[in-house]
Amino acid sequence: MGGLLVFNQDREQAFAKTALALMGGAGVVATPDNFELFYAYASGENPPASQVMGAIINAKQPFTPELLADLRLRCLSSARAAVAMESLGGNMSALINDVLGKLESSARQTADYKDTLSAATGELGGDRNPADMRKLVEGLIAATRAMEERTKSLEGELQASSQQVNELRGKLDDVHKESMTDPLTHIANRKAFDDAMEAGRKAAEGGEDVCLLMCDIDHFKKFNDSWGHQTGDQVLRLVASCLSENVKGRDTAARYGGEEFAVLLRGTPLEAASMLANQIRITVETKKLVKKSTGDVLGTITISIGVAKFSAGESSETVLRRADACLYGAKHSGRNLVIHQNDARMAALETSAA
Ligand code: GH3
Ligand code: MG
Ligand code: MG
Repeated sequence: MGGLLVFNQDREQAFAKTALALMGGAGVVATPDNFELFYAYASGENPPASQVMGAIINAKQPFTPELLADLRLRCLSSARAAVAMESLGGNMSALINDVLGKLESSARQTADYKDTLSAATGELGGDRNPADMRKLVEGLIAATRAMEERTKSLEGELQASSQQVNELRGKLDDVHKESMTDPLTHIANRKAFDDAMEAGRKAAEGGEDVCLLMCDIDHFKKFNDSWGHQTGDQVLRLVASCLSENVKGRDTAARYGGEEFAVLLRGTPLEAASMLANQIRITVETKKLVKKSTGDVLGTITISIGVAKFSAGESSETVLRRADACLYGAKHSGRNLVIHQNDARMAALETSAA
């Protein structure tokens, strides 16, 4: 037992050393958040971290603050959700065992009561004097009372258990919601978006009009450089709220990553999707940005949007690539623009690229 513990401690220390060495080598500031991320990578027990960070380390790509924030979102939030799920699962099975135990003991007592009744029925057969009869009836009354008490207390216990089950179910819903939400902007995260895309792809196969908008903030690097990353984060929240304001029902507005957002529109033809995209673009453009703490006027923010429509039988990647190409077209044509897949400007871009 002691040996195993020492072994684990050694392992953990080795992981921590590797994590710190990697951080030092990559010039990453040793904050607890960053350490958690690199530790997850060093331990090899977090598949997204192993995959994504391994690729970055091998390519000697720099770990910028944005990349680190993105990695924490992608690698740590799902791992935290998994741990929370596991502990909820443990609570749930303890509760179920408890209820099963109570039901079993109650079944045993019901059987005992049944035996008492059958025995009494047998005894009623013969000649009985009043004293024996009285004893028999008293015995039956006592057994019935005991049974009543037991049933009442079991009822109370089961009610308490069912309340606990409901509480656990509520917590489970919270954890599920959290694992699907972007913590910065509180809209759907990449995982929720991927799920929505898969549902959209299937619906398009059945003939539904399903469109995808890819949105990217214009010159956001310059904004961050002028006003700081934290003010930049406020802008991300603002853009997210502009998206939420404009979508409804079965549509999904999500933070796709960094400063990119994606919107999946169900039951919406390309033209209507482009109109909605334009409305989103205008909503963002007309917000006046003021820094609360200082009252500084930060000017306005604009976004560019690419719009593509699912064809039946097409993969999600293909539609994403098309929407991305349209987004690139919108950036190329001057930004603060919406361009859809059938826009003449796309054809012009393709010709100039050829
Ligand atoms: P373009 O109009 O071509 O899109 O220019 P851009 O500067 O927006 O594009 P680029 O891709 O060069 O830069 C994206 C910037 O977005 C880099 C980074 O500063 C910022 N960014 C990405 N994620 C975050 C984030 O989570 N918070 C903040 N504040 N900024 C972020
Ligand atoms: Mg970008
Ligand atoms: Mg941008």
